Amino acid sequence: MKITFYGAAGGVTGSKHVIEHDGKRILLECGMHQGHFKESHDRNKELPFSATDIDAVILSHAHIDHSGLLPVLVKHGYRGPIYTTAGTAELLNPLLYDAAHIQQEDALFWAARAKEDPNIIALDPLYSRDDVHECLSLLSPQERNHTFRVADVADVTFYNAGHILGSSQIHITIGDKHIGFTGDLGPRNRKILHESDPIPEADVLITESTYGGRLHKESSSARAELQKVIADTHSRKGKIIIPSFALERTQEILYDLHHLYNQKKIPRLPVFVDSPLATNFTEIFSDHLADFDEETHAFFVDKGKNPFSFKGLTHTASKRESMKLNAFDKPCIIIAGSGMCEAGRVKHHLKHHIDDARNTILIVGYQAEHTLGRRIVEGESPVRILGKQKDVKAHVVSIRTYSAHADQRDLINNILATKNVKDVVLVHGDGEQAELLKVKIAEEGHPWNVIIPQANDIMEL
Ligand SMILES: [Zn+2]
Repeated sequence: MKITFYGAAGGVTGSKHVIEHDGKRILLECGMHQGHFKESHDRNKELPFSATDIDAVILSHAHIDHSGLLPVLVKHGYRGPIYTTAGTAELLNPLLYDAAHIQQEDALFWAARAKEDPNIIALDPLYSRDDVHECLSLLSPQERNHTFRVADVADVTFYNAGHILGSSQIHITIGDKHIGFTGDLGPRNRKILHESDPIPEADVLITESTYGGRLHKESSSARAELQKVIADTHSRKGKIIIPSFALERTQEILYDLHHLYNQKKIPRLPVFVDSPLATNFTEIFSDHLADFDEETHAFFVDKGKNPFSFKGLTHTASKRESMKLNAFDKPCIIIAGSGMCEAGRVKHHLKHHIDDARNTILIVGYQAEHTLGRRIVEGESPVRILGKQKDVKAHVVSIRTYSAHADQRDLINNILATKNVKDVVLVHGDGEQAELLKVKIAEEGHPWNVIIPQANDIMEL
């Protein structure tokens, strides 16, 4: 048996690993590489293996860096099953259609630029809506904690990973070997969802290491920080603009706002979710009550309340409704994508509100280098938004305690909770984070053989 680590090896995006045994090939994840636009496009349009050689796909969760190239796999001829949970399967529908739409828009943009400048090469979309449609038809949703047969060679079981809705750790038995794959792992004290369940046993445990070198502050402080930002901004009669990822972070913010309103800790402000994609994801969340933890049941579900819905909350669907928010002249909270301010409706809200000192730009997620969100967080002023130079006079506040990823302690505890582990393979971490986790494991004296593969490295078992 051999495992080839094609992606998220020495990096955090483009997860792809192939397990080969007895002439069969099982693909774990088919994630999109994210980074510099042109380089990413080149890496994403071709796969590092033949799509028609793959017998089955197993997917841990819906995030685009794990699932975003499934339609490319299908475009290149794959027609086998894609095993995942029901929650992940539901999230993939809006997520992949949205990805195809963004690629279409990008292609039109670059085609127009290429007409003006012969040095610019137009880029085709990676896939079409038809490819997404075909891809979704191959999904085979499976229950967690139940074993199913894959490609006639493997027995596979999903366990809750506590990362996002539908996320799973994966236990694969092939021949006499047990292989564990964490996918992305959630933190302890997870909000809304149940905390992760360990994989029972694994000879080889492939684990993410996003925060392999970091320890999180307690997540309970995020709600208190949110409360303070709202009180401060309300006292200035300002608006709060929250650039937010549509999946997970938006639902966490709505959940915390609902809590704060229930406890009368913040003034009742109108809240607008100005992202059709986030609205779609929130509806899917609301259909998965069994995935919610005890606190969510006690405070909301058992009382017949939807945790993500409360008085004063409006979901704006059309562009016209979104534009009308520009003329809304009372204090309010506007949650809009994209999370790093690079695209989407949040750019319009920033353009209209960033030069008013009464307002707050509230950053609740990671801002990658070279993004508008990063420039705002780093205090740059003026910043260019939709072709206009704007002075940043609004207060810029970051809440860094929202996280859907395990930290160093959680990652080690997750390995400890799995029996018989011999090899630990660290993927999905930049070089330093994986290295720091390896050092910590050595310091604590655990008996595991720790491997940090680079792209295309092969492990023989
Ligand atoms: Zn993820």
